[in-house]
Amino acid sequence: MSHNRRDFIKYVVVGSIASGCPINHALLAEPTGGGPLVEGEHFSVCHQVRDGHSFPRPDATKKADVVIVGGGVAGLSAAYFLKGKDWLLLEKEDHFGGNAYQEEYEGQIFGTGSAYGYRGDAGDQLAKEIGLDLPLVNMPDPIIDNGRYAPDIWRTGINELPYSKDVIASFKKFRDDMMKIDFKKNAAQLDTESFTKYLAPYAPEVTKLWDAYGPSNWGAFSEDTSALIGIADTQYLLMGEDDKRVILPGGLGCITHKLVEALKPHYGERMLGDATVVAVVPDKDEVHVTYAQGDKITTVAAKAVLMCTAKNITSRLVAGLPNEQKRAMRKMRYAPYPIVNIIFDKPVYRKGYDNWCPGKTFTDFIVADWTIRNNPGYKPKYNILTFYTPLHESQRALLLNEDDCKTLAGKVLKDFQGLLPEFNVDPVEVRIYRRGHPMFMAVPGQYTQNRMIASKPMERIFFGNSDSGGPESLTSEAVRISQAGVEWANLVLAGKPGATELAERALNLALF
Ligand SMILES: Cc1cc2nc3c(=O)[nH]c(=O)nc-3n(C[C@H](O)[C@H](O)[C@H](O)COP(=O)(O)OP(=O)(O)OC[C@H]3O[C@@H](n4cnc5c(N)ncnc54)[C@H](O)[C@@H]3O)c2cc1C
Repeated sequence: MSHNRRDFIKYVVVGSIASGCPINHALLAEPTGGGPLVEGEHFSVCHQVRDGHSFPRPDATKKADVVIVGGGVAGLSAAYFLKGKDWLLLEKEDHFGGNAYQEEYEGQIFGTGSAYGYRGDAGDQLAKEIGLDLPLVNMPDPIIDNGRYAPDIWRTGINELPYSKDVIASFKKFRDDMMKIDFKKNAAQLDTESFTKYLAPYAPEVTKLWDAYGPSNWGAFSEDTSALIGIADTQYLLMGEDDKRVILPGGLGCITHKLVEALKPHYGERMLGDATVVAVVPDKDEVHVTYAQGDKITTVAAKAVLMCTAKNITSRLVAGLPNEQKRAMRKMRYAPYPIVNIIFDKPVYRKGYDNWCPGKTFTDFIVADWTIRNNPGYKPKYNILTFYTPLHESQRALLLNEDDCKTLAGKVLKDFQGLLPEFNVDPVEVRIYRRGHPMFMAVPGQYTQNRMIASKPMERIFFGNSDSGGPESLTSEAVRISQAGVEWANLVLAGKPGATELAERALNLALF
């Protein structure tokens, strides 16, 4: 099966979806190339692990000083920071990148997840080090609702929101009230509360916007969002922190792509794809990591292990976790989160980078080539838009069914075409990239309490991944924590004291 066909449901749309016809099979042509249709991530072995299937655990036939489990941005950056050390990276997919993974259409690059970082954050610093200069987004976010476009939701554009005067007044009151809250001083209390408590006094349109913004950014609708995260993010937007956003086409997949390019020529034999780890078992002076690659099951003995998988997976792989820690890992909630990319062969929209569309099948959409659109000589053939389509946890199962995925992608297209009259254009291709559990949800307690318990290192096992950080799922946190993980591993390998304290400092550093 070719790589492309495994990674997205690819199909061509014919006819006009806005014409009122049924949207799925009648209008969506059969996938090109025939054969079985596709999935985003591969979950069969992981689901077997989850369901308690016991895999054979052969004796170790390989050794490595450091085994890295998971080849997303956390695992790749750990490999990068380990440089010449003796490491082995195991990734279950046939490609690296995890949730920050870029794709392309006839040479034009777009993202399948992770959208942007911030100037000077750990991801941006790493990007610079490997030769990527991420340009600023340089525009606040527009909103499109009620058939109207308004630039800049929270600052200069607040008077132009596509709502009545009363609703705009309510937005302003919300803005002023939120700015009065000292969220740093009250972090512990706010992190026990739901954001809905703070949204309740205002017009329903305010909640409607956060019910797009929250799921898109931290996987949780308002009711499941920690008030700490909601209020901190409101202040961040009001103070214009979003002016620091940086990115290239591909979203943060541009960083993982470049990391692979930097690592592969030197360390290709240490980077195993299609290698699903099924057990991580601490022994006396080493850790035995067992992985399945095709039909073959192999065990490697490591002096230290960096777990760069999400905790819902990690909790099922690592033996000997203290009960409290295992419970904390299992308590983490993850949003099902497909991404739909729609490719037009004519210019359809270039009026804003990240465009909020509350109340639709998708929450927002991004112009893939936004930060390079004005580069001299840049003449793109296609206008590629990336639609963020987070789902409720109860909808996760629909991602297992290909027809349901197609229907969902069709609804995204239909909703987009209905937003503004000029959007009623047929694309040349629609792609859906499905992921069942990619984004940890910023629920009450997760940031100040739960992750601290879940991420405590064991003697020879460090728990990385962006879900060790926060306050929401951030690529920069995955990188920052991997940097700490490598320092931790260096102490463990050298038999020096202080590894646990170092890891704890890294977890605490991000706290408000
Ligand atoms: C739709 C979406 C939008 C986002 N937008 C942003 C954004 O704008 N800015 C931002 O900073 N962040 C964003 N994020 C979050 C960001 O993408 C993640 O925080 C980051 O990519 C996580 O990287 P990671 O390496 O920690 O974890 P992952 O990407 O989850 O990597 C873990 C890797 O482990 C592999 N794996 C799993 N199980 C096994 C196993 N048993 N054996 C071997 N390998 C295994 C997986 O295949 C995966 O490659 C977004 C996320 C999503 C889903």
